[in-house]
Amino acid sequence: MAAMTSSARPFLNRRLAEFGTTIFAEMSALALSTGAINLGQGFPDTDGPEQVREAAVRALRDGRGNQYPPGPGVPELRTAVAEHQRRRYGLGYDPDTEVLVTAGATEAIAATLLALLEPGDEVIALEPYYDSYAACIAMAGGRRVPVTLRPHHDGDASFRLDLDELRDAVTDRTRLLLINTPHNPTGTVLTREELSAIAELAVERDLLVVTDEVYEHLVFDDAEHVPLATFPGMRERTVTISSAGKTYSFTGWKVGWVTAAPGLVTAVRSAKQFLTYVSSGPFQYAVAEALALPETYFEEFRADLRAKRDLLTAGLTEAGFAVFRPAGTYFVTTDIRPLGESDGFAFCRALPERAGVVAIPNAVFYDHREAGAPFVRFAFCKRVEVLADATERLRKAFPR
Ligand SMILES: *Cc1c(COP(=O)(O)O)cnc(C)c1O
Repeated sequence: MAAMTSSARPFLNRRLAEFGTTIFAEMSALALSTGAINLGQGFPDTDGPEQVREAAVRALRDGRGNQYPPGPGVPELRTAVAEHQRRRYGLGYDPDTEVLVTAGATEAIAATLLALLEPGDEVIALEPYYDSYAACIAMAGGRRVPVTLRPHHDGDASFRLDLDELRDAVTDRTRLLLINTPHNPTGTVLTREELSAIAELAVERDLLVVTDEVYEHLVFDDAEHVPLATFPGMRERTVTISSAGKTYSFTGWKVGWVTAAPGLVTAVRSAKQFLTYVSSGPFQYAVAEALALPETYFEEFRADLRAKRDLLTAGLTEAGFAVFRPAGTYFVTTDIRPLGESDGFAFCRALPERAGVVAIPNAVFYDHREAGAPFVRFAFCKRVEVLADATERLRKAFPR
């Protein structure tokens, strides 16, 4: 092979060196080579509502969105997003100046951080964090400051935010708080009290807040999703990010959006226009229709996922895992220590051979790897028979 570089210097630059390949590639390859059931990556194995799929087909046939759609997104979708925020949360946004359509929440996160951060700015993110946060903060030249969610065992076991730790993490260099609720991978839904304290801190320290709410519709039991933008003083400092992927089970469509005050939306759009410019033309029209689905759609979707959560958590408990019952999202985090294990990486690498199931070690979502070491994440957005098969395999692999 011809020499491609004159030195031994690796190609990937220093900003991204630590983000070589994601764990999902490694684990999905393992799933393929072993024939294991993949409960690693979080995508549903059935498509969303037929009428929404048909709406996409119609848009495509009618020639809507087959050419570059408008930079901020098609007006139908921006109006539908604004209407959704108003109807659900009482948040009024102007579809022309306060809504921006993006290539999924992923681009919204990237564009927001690229637009708002100066090199050296600190970003406080809840740890464990969604994997793109760390990479995007790095691409923007920012510095991530993780605040760790800690396991609590009073009542239903869950991961909780320590508000004092959050307050202590703020410095003169802190530019923004990056919040995710409902939270992937822990399934924690921040309470009204916790959100109120975050809002007070943001106002007091004059911080911007970026909030990733892609699981806004996936909350169970008594849990309630409250957008941070609804708290006093927050509307003008909050960039709210959501997406159609999780809510409508079309993760391949990559239709996301930002809602924020005009100055913030303009800034995010400045970065976004040089990333994808525009995307997902016909799907934007279909998602506009999806956002107008009646409340019964969301109720049935939640009920279906709740049943799947209960099936998987019961199976994991029977197999001997300690389970953090998620109040939201479609992930469940477990503790493997009751199985006599403590290293989630080693456990997940062996699990396909050992049990025929793929899971993700939560440690990949931590800077403090040791804090995440014994935790392992499973996705339950799969068909009931797949989850039943997986739990059966786990029970056999860990006989008690
Ligand atoms: C899936 C996910 C995203 C990405 O959403 P897309 O719309 O598919 O880009 C962002 N944040 C969190 C927390 C997620 O789980």
